[in-house]
Amino acid sequence: MSQALALKYRPRRFEDLIGQDSVSRTLAMALDQNRLGHAYLFSGLRGSGKTSTARIFSKALLCEHGPTSKPCDTCEQCVMANEGRHIDIIEMDAASSRKIDDIRDLIEHTKYKPSVGRYKVFIIDEVHMLTKEAFNALLKTLEEPPEFVKFILATTDPLKLPATILSRTQHFRFKKIAKPLVVRHLEHILNTEGIDFEPDALEILARSGSGSLRDTLTLLDQAIVYAKGKVDVATVTQMLGIIDPEFLEKLFDAILQKDENAIREHLRELENYEAEMVIDEMSLFLKEKLLQNDPRFPPMLLERFYRILADAKPLLALGTDGDFVLSLTLFKLVEAMNIKEIDEMIEALEEELGTVTVRETGTAKRVPENDRPESHAAAEPKTVSPADIQRPASETQRSRTPDNTIRFKKLIEKIYDRNAELGRAFEESIEFVDFSDGTLSWASHAEGANKELLKNHFGIVRHFVQEIFGVGTRIKLVKSDNPPPPKREAAEPQSRQSPQPAPDPETTGAPLPDANAATHTASMVEDVDCNSAGCVTGHCSEAPQAKEIDAKEIQNDPMVQKAMELFKAKKVTIRSKV
Ligand SMILES: [Zn+2]
Repeated sequence: MSQALALKYRPRRFEDLIGQDSVSRTLAMALDQNRLGHAYLFSGLRGSGKTSTARIFSKALLCEHGPTSKPCDTCEQCVMANEGRHIDIIEMDAASSRKIDDIRDLIEHTKYKPSVGRYKVFIIDEVHMLTKEAFNALLKTLEEPPEFVKFILATTDPLKLPATILSRTQHFRFKKIAKPLVVRHLEHILNTEGIDFEPDALEILARSGSGSLRDTLTLLDQAIVYAKGKVDVATVTQMLGIIDPEFLEKLFDAILQKDENAIREHLRELENYEAEMVIDEMSLFLKEKLLQNDPRFPPMLLERFYRILADAKPLLALGTDGDFVLSLTLFKLVEAMNIKEIDEMIEALEEELGTVTVRETGTAKRVPENDRPESHAAAEPKTVSPADIQRPASETQRSRTPDNTIRFKKLIEKIYDRNAELGRAFEESIEFVDFSDGTLSWASHAEGANKELLKNHFGIVRHFVQEIFGVGTRIKLVKSDNPPPPKREAAEPQSRQSPQPAPDPETTGAPLPDANAATHTASMVEDVDCNSAGCVTGHCSEAPQAKEIDAKEIQNDPMVQKAMELFKAKKVTIRSKV
């Protein structure tokens, strides 16, 4: 290839312009209806097509069959314009000719009629670079130029232009070219050139060009030379010195799995890269995940990740050891995963406690100092109240598969993922019956240890029910004569697996080992009702019956334990939500 792609594929017609439809349409209409202004201002990102548009527009003004939106490209005027040697198209770069004398020369020029064309077109690029005096000198001519003069001013920074200039021009704003359009254009060029490529490689090039077609084409030029035959991801990432997306995929896998050994290994590889660039690439990767709606990256988690990555930047700016900042950042991301789990636990806890009603009216009682659990005595006083924990609802409103049996299977999987033992107990005991009108009906075959487990972790179950079947889903326990669901082949040994009794009609639906019977010593809550856990243990009726639970039970729940640990809670108050 002898010629740079940006030159070779420079657009010649309005319809060839990439990603600037509204601009080219408006200009074409102005040409066809002969409603022409005398000064135009094109503003926008570099490489977005301003100069190309200015040249096409000039040619369209001068074409022998024009002014027309479809210059013929064959007449003398068009040919000269295309070859960049039209004497009446005068291009000036204000970045290098910014003085008042340069503008005076230009104004002098405007006094003479065009040599061969219909108009004399002045294209002033980077017009914001002109000095104040130069602007002032230009003003008068810009306001009332001779009728054969047209001005096209182009700038990347219209805010730097004096208001007097802005008010005398028709302003066209060029958008940043959308990435898919850039990619499509690259594909077109490579196909035309007969060069093999990987689509992902073009994505990376387009991203690196940041919406500038010219920059992207320059990168493509390089990549073709570098690639020797095929423009692929490996070549492009190597050439640009950026990280292979597959590597990032692996890195985030390790973070999600909290696999610290793998992260350490990845860190060694990352030593070859600039820490700041790695952070940027990671942010971009997360942005992609957000757009792809990847279920592994819920928005809450992404937000947390993003904050951690953003926090790394100032540390790098301090001139600290980049590798150290990077290591710190990766392990902070892992930490964020822990917080996510605690978050979910709190959410589940909130769900659970939300159904607990305090019989007494008025606010819940504080627990006396000496009644609080020993282990938390050292911490400062704090009250955990579910009502205080504000949670966005978005996270719970995800994937809705039309088939309810599939949803129910998903529910089982979710519970499994959280707690394998609970998942197994749920799967073995709970039979899906129906889901309609926001009510999930199931039959419980829970017994013994399963029953206990389900009762104690009902909050988690409910949480996932809401997540999968929608917020506000009611759970209804119905009778079933079917045998309990089949057991799952245990993929991993269950450490505390309890022997599963065969389905026994006698015990199916029998009352659970009574929570009332639990002692009330060291009570943190007084007189509480519960109508929730019965739903998984066969103790639920349509009119929820008042049922007391002991505070100790709540307190012993691993979720509550963890929450107390997290908040260093000295006191726990359980409040009614109603
Ligand atoms: Zn022509």
